[in-house]
Amino acid sequence: MPDGKTHDRLTIIGAALSVPTWLLFAPPDWRADYPACATLVISTLFSGLMLSPDLDLDSSIYQRWGPLRFLWWPYQKLIPHRSFLSHSLLIAPMLRVLYFLVISYVLFRAGSWAINFVTPVNRNAMSDAAFGALVDFPNRHPHHFYAAAIGTILGTALHVGADAFWTRLQKANPFRRKRRR
Ligand SMILES: [Zn+2]
Repeated sequence: MPDGKTHDRLTIIGAALSVPTWLLFAPPDWRADYPACATLVISTLFSGLMLSPDLDLDSSIYQRWGPLRFLWWPYQKLIPHRSFLSHSLLIAPMLRVLYFLVISYVLFRAGSWAINFVTPVNRNAMSDAAFGALVDFPNRHPHHFYAAAIGTILGTALHVGADAFWTRLQKANPFRRKRRR
């Protein structure tokens, strides 16, 4: 498997190349939307560097979450390494985003429950507002929504593609020493 640094480099190169691709090939009214292009770059970077498929393993990505890595501990334990749940083009990134949203929600509920003891907060109104904003996001900001979705998928695709390429290379070269990521 390519090591974590190789995956990081590919992510950065892919994010950089997404800019000229956007400027050349996006529909004309999208092309001029530079903030949406920035969303594409940021989501590609975030997807590859933070939401990487290798969160299914005690990897450099998992460690990158620092003190927050406990959020990904259940994911790491539940998802078999390199299964379609973590290393596929659509299901895997969607599952990671969903997981991240659910965990964030649980964290928010627990945090606001604790804050409630110090100062009263309307937790339900806050949850509803956040949920409403999330559901409304594709309608209100379609360019940003699609740019974020493409970037998230691209970040995973670069990883899965590199893994698959490496596996083929190894098969073609049986004497090659196996390297750990
Ligand atoms: Zn991998």
